[in-house]
Amino acid sequence: MGAKITFFPVANGDMTLIRLADTRVTTILIDIKIRKPADDTPDVAAQLRKRLQYDAKNRPFVDVFLLSHPDQDHILGLQKHFWLGRPEDYPDDDKKASERRIIIREIWSSPMVFRRHEKNNHVLCQDAKDFATEVRRRVKHWKANRTAGPGNRLLILGEDEGNKTDDLQEILIKTGETLDRIGGESFSSLFSAILLAPAPRQDDELEEKLSKNNSSVILRMKIFAAKGSANHVKFLSGGDAGVVIWERMWDNYKNEPEVLEYDLLQAPHHCSWRSLSYDSWSDKQDEAKVCEGAREALSQALDGATIVSSSAKIVDDDNDPPCIRAKTEYKSILRSVDGAFLCTGDDKAGNETELEIQPNGKLVRVVVGALAAGLSVAAAAAPRAGKQ
Ligand SMILES: [Zn+2]
Repeated sequence: MGAKITFFPVANGDMTLIRLADTRVTTILIDIKIRKPADDTPDVAAQLRKRLQYDAKNRPFVDVFLLSHPDQDHILGLQKHFWLGRPEDYPDDDKKASERRIIIREIWSSPMVFRRHEKNNHVLCQDAKDFATEVRRRVKHWKANRTAGPGNRLLILGEDEGNKTDDLQEILIKTGETLDRIGGESFSSLFSAILLAPAPRQDDELEEKLSKNNSSVILRMKIFAAKGSANHVKFLSGGDAGVVIWERMWDNYKNEPEVLEYDLLQAPHHCSWRSLSYDSWSDKQDEAKVCEGAREALSQALDGATIVSSSAKIVDDDNDPPCIRAKTEYKSILRSVDGAFLCTGDDKAGNETELEIQPNGKLVRVVVGALAAGLSVAAAAAPRAGKQ
């Protein structure tokens, strides 16, 4: 199988699965938003589970879970669907496979993102609190053992303030560094990522601004078509990072813009105007001005690039996110490279938006759901029958 990237239909929120091109099919899950399935809410837990591997004890697992930031639309469903605690205490072996909680072999978490979130007076939702508790457990485990196996592993993205990560150097990736190890092994022939944000602690004034701008982990990943192949896709993913952060990205990298290049961009903050502009969309409408620096940072699209909005359907109204003006801006970025803009909310049947990296390094959309099951296009496009 070629490497695949799947965006689940979670309306405004993120839930993205990367499956690498190794024989084990190593998985990296970025954020989750798992609501209770209903007529208008697709069963994304089932869509996720059918793509996961099971270990020797028949427990489902992801190799990595990365939390971009602790807002509810990025962490909902953690406690219900994932095992949080010591692997030796796993209690679900007698349950049906579909009900066993998913083991997270390695967590990627950023303490600075949590600090900025709290500084901005955001109250953590219960799933985010549970995530933080699990991270603390893993830190403690690391400090006691200086080693960790699957289910206990942790990687810290970005230095914490006040030297708090000084004694965690072996499991710390500093901002600007490249990360290419998963489960303690080198994955450089399959995957690597440069950590672009969060920035380390800044002076008080800038710190204030960053806290108000939806601080998120930003990674520019390279996902290879096959082990040993030079062909790869560059994937830029930045949670809900706001305009100040993208403007700073451009300040930092305008002399080496290749760092920001992408074949695939997840439109920040569910295609929000607030990642591209300081002006409010609903107040200023067509008078709202784009921030040139932020736009430049998000404009380094390579030939044939794809931008995916993980959001509800984008319509021409005052809403933000998703925002019609942001979509227009992204489509204009794509025009010069003959790229494609996709929105997870556009699939009426609630199917996943899935892309596969071909051997030549090109991204191709995979047909999933009803279409893949052999139904005609007309049948798949028809509205689903209501309850009898
Ligand atoms: Zn969000």
